[in-house]
Amino acid sequence: MNEGNCIFCRIASGASPARKVYEDEDVFAFHDIHPQAPVHILIIPKKHLASLEETEEADQALLGKLLYVARNIARDFELHRNGYRLVLNTGRQGGQTVFHLHFHLLGGRYLYWPPG
Ligand code: 5GP
Ligand code: ZN
Repeated sequence: MNEGNCIFCRIASGASPARKVYEDEDVFAFHDIHPQAPVHILIIPKKHLASLEETEEADQALLGKLLYVARNIARDFELHRNGYRLVLNTGRQGGQTVFHLHFHLLGGRYLYWPPG
């Protein structure tokens, strides 16, 4: 899998359209096409990593940056006031359907637990 045939690589490079929320040299964020909450944003590394399971020691700083970007986007969307949820589905049984690592940032409604 590489930039040409991974949908999230295509979105991060601008080759496929998406509603962009944030971008820097390492990270891209955009609205989920099928939102599960009033705010549902996907936060991805520009580097193609298939899942959390595919990461290695050298990716630790990037993983930390994704979390801090998520925190800042949550603030931008005023989610920090009432709370929000970050989700990292990993592998098929974990609910992952797109195999380019992504955090879901969900907020704007009460989020129940367990998620199902
Ligand atoms: P997963 O199930 O892998 O954790 O989440 C994949 C997410 O990507 C789903 O919430 C799905 O709606 C979203 N998604 C899949 N394809 C696209 C797309 O082409 N554009 C956008 N914006 N979201 C997508
Ligand atoms: Zn990719």
